Amino acid sequence: MATGKINVSVDNIFPLIKKFLYSDHEIFLRELISNATDATLKLKHLTNIGETDVEYGNPVIDIKVDKENKKIHVIDQGIGMTKEEVEKYINEVAFSGAEEFLDKYKDSAKDSGIIGHFGLGFYSAFMVAHKVEIITKSYKDEPAAHWTCSGTTEFTLEDADKQDRGTEIILHINEDDEEFLEENRIEELLVKYNKFMPIPIRFGTREETLPLPDDAPEDAKPETKTVDNIINNPDPAWTKQPTDLEDKDYKDFYRELYPMQFEEPLFHIHLNVDYPFNLTGILYFPKMSQDMNMQRDKIQLYQNQVFVTDNVEGIVPEFLTMLRGVIDSPDIPLNVSRSYLQADGAVKKISSYITRKVADKLKALFNNNREDFQEKWNDIKVVIEYGMLTEDKFYEKAQKFALYPTIDNEYYTFEELKEAIKDNQTDKDGNLVILYASNQNEQHSYIEAAKDKGYKVILLDSPIISHLLQKLESSEEKITFTRVDSDHVDNLIKTDEEKISKLSDDEKEKLKGDFEKVVPKEKYTIQMEAMDSNAAPLMITQPEFMRRMKEMQQTGGGGMFGMGNMPEMYNLVVNTNHPLTAEILSAEKETQQRLIKQSLDLARLSQNLLKGEELTAFIKRSFEMVK
Ligand code: ADP
Ligand code: MG
Repeated sequence: MATGKINVSVDNIFPLIKKFLYSDHEIFLRELISNATDATLKLKHLTNIGETDVEYGNPVIDIKVDKENKKIHVIDQGIGMTKEEVEKYINEVAFSGAEEFLDKYKDSAKDSGIIGHFGLGFYSAFMVAHKVEIITKSYKDEPAAHWTCSGTTEFTLEDADKQDRGTEIILHINEDDEEFLEENRIEELLVKYNKFMPIPIRFGTREETLPLPDDAPEDAKPETKTVDNIINNPDPAWTKQPTDLEDKDYKDFYRELYPMQFEEPLFHIHLNVDYPFNLTGILYFPKMSQDMNMQRDKIQLYQNQVFVTDNVEGIVPEFLTMLRGVIDSPDIPLNVSRSYLQADGAVKKISSYITRKVADKLKALFNNNREDFQEKWNDIKVVIEYGMLTEDKFYEKAQKFALYPTIDNEYYTFEELKEAIKDNQTDKDGNLVILYASNQNEQHSYIEAAKDKGYKVILLDSPIISHLLQKLESSEEKITFTRVDSDHVDNLIKTDEEKISKLSDDEKEKLKGDFEKVVPKEKYTIQMEAMDSNAAPLMITQPEFMRRMKEMQQTGGGGMFGMGNMPEMYNLVVNTNHPLTAEILSAEKETQQRLIKQSLDLARLSQNLLKGEELTAFIKRSFEMVK
């Protein structure tokens, strides 16, 4: 057996980096600032543990754009490099000095916040620059070094006369990448990627308007002062301990994250774990709108305070992508593809941790102040119901705090609801029938009829509710959800009670035939019912099953073969005990047809089903009858 080493030639590394390593050119700045930050944090660490007695001071990172000479400078006051270190860290592609540092200072540097990982970040500079220079002076007492490279494997390395500690990276920008010589573009990148990085980043200066003194004359002009233009907030709220923060701090941070957002968040969840993975962050529950897709992509993902992406799909469970806030984890790989992320074990654990934290927080809010939780229910229910539908773990936990409000604003948990209705709403087969409405206005008459019978009517109006009901019915024993307008009130909850009909069976048969002559049978199934004589003579209902399947398909239910395209089918319930029905039965053919047609239209009108030309004709006909 022969063994050996595969030789990887670096000759072709530059074209590869330019083409494949990073799809996005703009990240070069993020990488260089990450290195400058690392260099500064390393120095901080060494001074902290007493390995050096150099003055740490108040270091900043400077970004300068020299449009005229087509250069960008990134300057730090960090640890710097000796000539030997440049040889080692820069010339050896894919050797990470960051990893080496973390290895060397394992225990003490664990929480130092060092960003680098792969030893590739620096070379992203060649995506936008045809030539890169490094001028660097180590904190050690050694001469400065000057490294130059024009995007080939050739480089020069010589002494330099830089006196102050730190590193300056100079990019000679490609003609194709001159957008990066625009100040606005650079500022945009700094705000996007570096807004919460731990070392102050200065991008030139800006004018600040000073407040007028109290006794200033009316026509006084406010004075301005030139100040450093610091891009970032080095201590964002999520890096602090929850005990050091007040409600106001969380709200202020929300404002900082979403300056264009005027509504306050409903509440927040502070995430903080260090085992078995590292993760910090703050999630906010905003007021949810019914349109779930509108609110995606608001959570920002960071790695050691460096912005990575605002697409957290695969990292956060789908139902939580409706929330806002930040997640920061050094364990999330920075530059890898999404499909890799989704398969990554750490990422999966992160996802289930977040789900659990959110469930725990909701439970605590419910327990600590139920009234307040009830008030917020309408604004958060979409997320919770969606979570119950899609995550089994969350479903279990949510049983304790998910609410089922009645039309009259009583809020029940599922257990409480079952208890409250079990005496009055159990049908003859022992099924507990939960009556609900999806629209208080449109289903008004049905709601009233149900309430008159002493039933409780729950209001469930989220877009995905039919899917959730399906799930509840299949995971709970002997439970059915029935919408109030899916049948006549006497049939909503079936009992053994015999109903007395004023009409004989023969009369009913004849009446049914009379109706069938007028009513289009491809649309309506006629159903003869002996109901209260005060109830409506004619009524249109849509069976629960049919309607729900249709709804589920419209909101993306898989496997519901063609239900959405099925014709609308209704039941036409004829009250055989109503005086009008008796009149129809005994009327002359012409009168009979007119009465049936008019009553049918009235029934349709009450279900909002009479529209267009038919509505116009109906109104005209009705006026004729009135006069
Ligand atoms: P990584 O940051 O993943 O280690 P990079 O390719 O970004 O890899 O950088 C390679 C190494 O070069 C760094 O680990 C560090 O040792 C060194 N380096 C890069 N930039 C600087 C800097 N501004 N100051 C000091 N050292 C630097
Ligand atoms: Mg790096």
